[in-house]
Amino acid sequence: MKIAVLPGDGIGPEIMKQALRVLQILKNDGLSIEWEEGAIGGAGYDNAGDPLPSETVALTKQADAVLLGAVGGPTYDCLPRAMRPEQGLLRIRKELGLFANLRPAVVFPELAAASSLKPELVEGLDLMILRELTGDIYFGQPRGRRKTEAGEDEGFDTMKYSVSEIERIARVAFDIATKRTGKLCSVDKANVLDTSILWREVVTKIGQDYPSVELTHMYVDNAAMQLVREPKQFDVILTGNIFGDILSDEASMLTGSIGMLPSASMDVNRKGLFEPIHGSAPDIAGKNIANPLATILSVAMMLKYTFGETEASDRVETAVRAVLAKGFRTADIHQEATRCVGTEEMGDAVINEMR
Ligand code: NAD
Repeated sequence: MKIAVLPGDGIGPEIMKQALRVLQILKNDGLSIEWEEGAIGGAGYDNAGDPLPSETVALTKQADAVLLGAVGGPTYDCLPRAMRPEQGLLRIRKELGLFANLRPAVVFPELAAASSLKPELVEGLDLMILRELTGDIYFGQPRGRRKTEAGEDEGFDTMKYSVSEIERIARVAFDIATKRTGKLCSVDKANVLDTSILWREVVTKIGQDYPSVELTHMYVDNAAMQLVREPKQFDVILTGNIFGDILSDEASMLTGSIGMLPSASMDVNRKGLFEPIHGSAPDIAGKNIANPLATILSVAMMLKYTFGETEASDRVETAVRAVLAKGFRTADIHQEATRCVGTEEMGDAVINEMR
């Protein structure tokens, strides 16, 4: 199992260091993994004049999975768009054909008070949002600006999904639902959009191959409302690119802490790029205060979804839960009567639990 490790910028290298310590423990205990580091984002620009150097592309193509820290920072804000760190991330997703974006929103019982919702609404929340990542109105052609017949400027975009694109993401969703509680909610806007009518038809048809999964459909406006009204009614949510963009950010805020949430973007062969959902946090970089748990939980996701190493994945997740239960907190999730620790110490605590 080969992993391309891309620490990136800002807090990226600090949080990645802790994730690699976790991988090292698993390797010492017999898991057959190896990894190699590459540069991306601002680090890629500094090293090779490109936010996605060709060596990094080659490294990630040879690897079975990619583990990424974060990219970006104020030093690079004045660069031309093509050289900006975020372009490295967009390009690698394209290079690797990553079409399925998995965004879990998990509320650990000890952190329920950090949510903006009442603790009883979110305590125990364990939700997975699956967003299609390469189609929809973000990529549909034609798009652009033109003059109307009346001579007024207008902007336009094209929302579209083909049957094969919907089938592909629907199968991933049903597979995930099968491995969880067997509940899948497909979110669309079929009361208004033709694209959504097709989406609903195709998802329903694919559902016939998964009789054990209970499939429901919901309009996106209602889903946005239900997520803040009663989020625990959901287990897996499947949706397209634009709706998923918005709903996954909404869901992540239910957990109250950006430093806790991992994510995955997968290709057709389940090769994935795993990363925390947060950015490079330049405001706290180099201070040993960043929360490494989202990156450590990204390792757990990688073990589960790309390598099928459920036991190793559970071991990492269990260690994180135990550390929180014992009261260890980085500054972003610190509350009264808990122990505030730095990035390195949080890594130590997870490692100790794993041992
Ligand atoms: P950010 O997620 O980096 O930070 C938002 C806030 O959350 C900051 O106050 C930060 O200190 C805090 N935070 C983030 N991660 C944390 C962690 N692990 N532990 C503790 N606190 C944490 O978002 P931003 O400030 O809008 O963006 C900063 C840079 O990151 C920008 O250059 C942006 O383009 C880039 N970015 C990269 C990614 C990515 O690599 N996937 C995602 C979002 C933003």
